Amino acid sequence: MSCMQEEILKIEDLKVYFPVKWGLLRKEVKYVKAVDGVNLNVEKGSIHAIVGESGSGKTTLLRTVLRLHKPTSGRILFDGEDISELPESQLKGYRRRVQAVFQNPQTSLNPKWKVRDIIAEPIRIHMDLSEDDVEKRVEELVRLVNLPQSLLDQSPPSLSGGQAQRVAIARAISTSPDLILLDEPTSALDVSVQAQILNLLLGLRDELGLTYIIVTHDISVVRYMADYVTVMYLGKVVEEGQADLVLNNPMHPYTIALLSSVPQPEAEIPTMKRIEISGEPPSALDPPKGCRLHPRCPYAMDLCRSQEPPLVEVEAKHKVACWLHRPK
Ligand code: SF4
Repeated sequence: MSCMQEEILKIEDLKVYFPVKWGLLRKEVKYVKAVDGVNLNVEKGSIHAIVGESGSGKTTLLRTVLRLHKPTSGRILFDGEDISELPESQLKGYRRRVQAVFQNPQTSLNPKWKVRDIIAEPIRIHMDLSEDDVEKRVEELVRLVNLPQSLLDQSPPSLSGGQAQRVAIARAISTSPDLILLDEPTSALDVSVQAQILNLLLGLRDELGLTYIIVTHDISVVRYMADYVTVMYLGKVVEEGQADLVLNNPMHPYTIALLSSVPQPEAEIPTMKRIEISGEPPSALDPPKGCRLHPRCPYAMDLCRSQEPPLVEVEAKHKVACWLHRPK
């Protein structure tokens, strides 16, 4: 029986271009097309991973959903409301419901503040609570992220990386958000701590009914966490779908190359071919015509050099943009 999941976030044909002055006199303007026509549907309660190399546009996409960048065009619908054009003065409700955890907690937390004030700040901004209730909420949040109350009077420089990321998570959930955007949440942490933070995030998702979008280059994090995966290359979505389908039966050469670059449990992916894609991605200022991967793709054909492949459904809940996989 099929059951329609409710979408919490829907992104439609989103473009985020950054102007760059060009030429001898710097009078010509070119555009870095960091995100170039991306569509994304995120279901309530799911974990949606966005993967790709640096320069793929994944972080710009996340920062645009946070409205730290303004979209050049396209729509970002949160719970049905288009927030892409809302002025900052009307974003307060959105900012309460959509929070973020960034890569390096030691730099994302104010080093001069005590932990209790770091966690309390969004509560004071967004929730109408007495100071006594703010204090009680902070203590409850510290319990939820498994930190001792004794850390409340310490400042970030005296915390370990794992403790600091727990504080960042407590801060992110402090306003009872619906959606949390996680930007490489474990990449700055020791390997021994990474699994603890991922398990904490999974537990909080279940306990608080959260939805996550996680941006990462770490395929093991995707494999561990994600329900859905979107693979980006040079500002475009090249493959997307249910995580087990994309990870166990990758079809786009770029996805296969990403998965080939990490050790894979062979038994889990019998159909996996391994390929290598050499060199660096070209500049998003002047992306290649046709398929953007063609200068690096071992399967490139004439068609790939002239025409951009559309993102098409290759099986239920699995789409690919590659001329090797044309719609039937
Ligand atoms: Fe490679 Fe062509 Fe597919 Fe692009 S469309 S990934 S160049 S085979």
